Amino acid sequence: MAKKSSTLRCPTCRTLVLKGDKHFPFCSDRCRVIDLGKWASGGYVISTPITDPEMLESLVEERRKKPAEESSDPDHKH
Ligand SMILES: [Zn+2]
Repeated sequence: MAKKSSTLRCPTCRTLVLKGDKHFPFCSDRCRVIDLGKWASGGYVISTPITDPEMLESLVEERRKKPAEESSDPDHKH
């Protein structure tokens, strides 16, 4: 626990990413595309376990704002 590091975790796969990285804040172009697709689709397909409670909360909140738009089964990939 030194000073605030200049790294962040990739929102998609939680890999540490250096600030200034080409794909920052993602670790790779692939993860960026995955994340964009996730939000764009509105399906919030979670392909990686979420360990951040805040993130979970915001997901739940988002869902509340959009009532019953996704009546179909959400993808439960793993
Ligand atoms: Zn990643």
